[in-house]
Amino acid sequence: MKFAPPKESALERFKRYVQVDTQSQEDSDRFPSTEKQLALCRMLLDELKALGVGDATMDQYGYVFGTVPSNLTKEETRRVPAIGFIAHVDTSPAVTGAGVKPVVHENYQGGDITLPGDPTKVIRVEEYPNLKKYTGMDIVTSDGTTLLGADDKAGIAEIMTAVDMLFQNPDLRHGTIKIGFTPDEEVGQGTKYFDIKKFGADFAYTLDGGPLGDIEFETFNAFTAIFEIEGIGVHPGYAKDKLVNAIKMVSKIIERLPQDMSPETTADRQGYIHPYVIDGQNEKVTLKILLRDFEMSGIEEKKKLLEKIREEVQEMYPKGKTKLEYKEYYRNMRYKIEEEPRLLEYAEEAIRRVGAEPRHTLIRGGTDGATLSYKGLLTPNLFAGGEAFHSKIEWVPVQVMEMAVGVILNLAQIWTEKSLEK
Ligand SMILES: [Zn+2]
Repeated sequence: MKFAPPKESALERFKRYVQVDTQSQEDSDRFPSTEKQLALCRMLLDELKALGVGDATMDQYGYVFGTVPSNLTKEETRRVPAIGFIAHVDTSPAVTGAGVKPVVHENYQGGDITLPGDPTKVIRVEEYPNLKKYTGMDIVTSDGTTLLGADDKAGIAEIMTAVDMLFQNPDLRHGTIKIGFTPDEEVGQGTKYFDIKKFGADFAYTLDGGPLGDIEFETFNAFTAIFEIEGIGVHPGYAKDKLVNAIKMVSKIIERLPQDMSPETTADRQGYIHPYVIDGQNEKVTLKILLRDFEMSGIEEKKKLLEKIREEVQEMYPKGKTKLEYKEYYRNMRYKIEEEPRLLEYAEEAIRRVGAEPRHTLIRGGTDGATLSYKGLLTPNLFAGGEAFHSKIEWVPVQVMEMAVGVILNLAQIWTEKSLEK
């Protein structure tokens, strides 16, 4: 289907949004974690209103919500689920997002891309083979001295452009569309104050994924194992047969962790065991270990393995104490998303309609959509087009952003068509 163009293109919007510094910060005692994120939130609020989203609001936490009202009859609107589209305003604390100068490499003709502000920053085809698919497209990068912020300002630009186009194309029949922009995703707090009820969508999609065609709905199951190891402290000069050193006990535990189950030795669907915090002295040591697996059975196996290690070390040091506990962080969102097969089916159809091939990819980490799905709003993640996130060589093709806009419009349409068919 041919659509009337937006008032402002996805690229123009994107260039404006990336120039607003919205870097979030770990361990902040305020929400959002940085005040500067609110500048973009306010900008989006004003722009939504100017586009015609009459009920657009921003709450005290910075969440911007709004509705593109259904253009169906009242009776039809009741039969079509309200669909939400969500993106996050903040950028990663890992790389500076201040003074971003977007550079458009027009009509890309293959080969590596050297960034003009720092010639040591090179996007290599070898590392990013998707580049080969984007010959003839326009690639946006930073100048090499900052990140770009395609994660997730590409998603924001795409959603805003889709809103613009929904108003420009009244013939495109759609139900209620909900828009949500959130702060602090990069520091794992993006859904902390997300009011699902107020948002008002029946289902949602985040536009926060990578390359063209990607649909993400699988995350790890994430647990942390916490070993509390207690030795016996005695003056080392008089310690014979009395002292038990907790540091040595912990080293025995670490020694026993399987080498082939580390983040540095696993990929794709494999889980891992990753010791990441060690804290204490010879009398008492805390050891924290990440357990990650796409299957709960894999988590259970890893727990059994750690329990066996604990028993062995306890036997070696009968006078020391070993305690092992677990904390659950999140579960694979697949378990929730599969409750509503239409979510993925329609996303695949929408991606095909813009001429791309849908591809299921795994998230070897968490995502806001996973938390939302467990809170009651099923939210898979769709491609926003960018790659090399959280780095100075981050890049996104303009035409892929435009295809993502098309995916949003098609999703609005497909949910309508299919829901009214019955
Ligand atoms: Zn993101």
